[in-house]
Amino acid sequence: MSDLIHLTAAELAQKLATDEITSVEVTEAHLARIADVDGEIHAFLHVDADGALATARDIDARHAAGEDLPALAGVPIAVKDVITTRGVPTTAGSRILEGWIPPYDATVTRRLKAAGLPILGKTNMDEFAMGSSTEHSGFGPTHNPWDTGRIPGGSGGGSAAAVAAFEAPIAVGTDTGGSIRQPGALTGTVGVKPTYGGVSRYGLIALASSLDQAGPVTRSVLDAALLHEVIAGHDPCDSTSIDGPVPPVVEAARRADVDGLKIGVVRELGGSAESSGGFQPDVVARFEESLRLLEGAGAEVVEVSCPSFVHALAAYYLILPSEASSNLAKFDAMRYGLRVLPDRVSDPTAEQVMAATREAGFGSEVKRRIILGTYALSSGYWDAYYGSAQKVRTLIRRDFDAAYEKVDVLVSPTAPTTAFPIGAKVDDPLAMYLNDIATIPASLAGMPGLSLPSGLADEDGLPAGIQVLAPAMADDRLYRVAAALESMLVEQWGGPLLAQAPELEVTR
Ligand code: GLN
Repeated sequence: MSDLIHLTAAELAQKLATDEITSVEVTEAHLARIADVDGEIHAFLHVDADGALATARDIDARHAAGEDLPALAGVPIAVKDVITTRGVPTTAGSRILEGWIPPYDATVTRRLKAAGLPILGKTNMDEFAMGSSTEHSGFGPTHNPWDTGRIPGGSGGGSAAAVAAFEAPIAVGTDTGGSIRQPGALTGTVGVKPTYGGVSRYGLIALASSLDQAGPVTRSVLDAALLHEVIAGHDPCDSTSIDGPVPPVVEAARRADVDGLKIGVVRELGGSAESSGGFQPDVVARFEESLRLLEGAGAEVVEVSCPSFVHALAAYYLILPSEASSNLAKFDAMRYGLRVLPDRVSDPTAEQVMAATREAGFGSEVKRRIILGTYALSSGYWDAYYGSAQKVRTLIRRDFDAAYEKVDVLVSPTAPTTAFPIGAKVDDPLAMYLNDIATIPASLAGMPGLSLPSGLADEDGLPAGIQVLAPAMADDRLYRVAAALESMLVEQWGGPLLAQAPELEVTR
């Protein structure tokens, strides 16, 4: 039974469809795995065994009755705790939301339920998705299954670690500046940020509304495409939702060829030796080996330059805190979660309660960004900071547009390094921010990106990732290229990369 946890979602779906296994068996196997290893990994903030098994039983009954079910019906999934789930605690990794039970489902959750996926539970994350290591969670860090002394990336470290540790076959994350792709790279999993507007933001606890996007976290490119199709599509509840067809991502993942495609290596994103200052040499080496494979399969690989990308990080850290400071104003101690009364005040005002609650309930990174954002938006500074950052954003979009006139997709290493030790960067915000140097440009431009494992970096035997980027609404191109590369890499490795991860200690 435990080998059920090693199957991909596509394999599980196929066995469910042909009656080889039941959804209850698959769901129980994953719940048992969570009980066995999550003490060591801490990928989950909340496990909903009853809810997951109820869905599984329902799907099994409907299948037995001969009902025609959606492709992934019965395949269990983990959901990042920033996505609201009706009746199931949702904290966004923050103490300020501890005990909050949402009265509604996010559209993503609603779609998962409609497609019959049992939801195993809610995964750990940096508080309000601010961070690159999951160490900023208000509930303690998640550990990387490859080396539990190391971080799994962030902010969606819980979703990535759950999938890498075989606690869930697939998960949903959210990516504002890299929170799906960077944890994907650091845990040897596949992570996709769809085109902005491709997946509804309704019911996502907002970090930066012009950047946030939910997407798949999986162990194969095809699984990511299958999940992408479940969660994507127009939603009238989100005014930025694209009212058009979902790109044919599953078809593209199955097609898996690069013959005749032009692939651009972005010079400013660690792609060439002279600019790869902050990039670990063995991460760049794995990236360059992937480029050779793509060339061997018939792609043309050329170098392109996007000069404005060097300003992306600075612009992001003005735009994101500005939007976050506004979005987080709603945590006022009156409407949700925590309420702390100030000491030594017998009849506190609402403002005093709000101040005491925000002081106690928010962690230091959240406070840092609220202060930065409030400053950047204040009258007199708005134009110099937020206004300038928006202009940089336009330049970045233009650099992408110019590059996509010459090439079909762009590629770079996903993150500059492999997973670092817990504690190594937590007191150095700038070092932490630099993790997202390669993922942020596409976020600012609203364009899609996918990270897949490129191999183990020699020195430490930890996974590295390659990122594929495409123009807005051309998400299918990501899958086509990534699936082609994945099949060549898996053949080279003699099986999926995660088969090489060390066995986890069973703590139950
Ligand atoms: N690590 C980046 C940040 O801290 C990205 C976070 C995200 O994508 N949610 O903002």
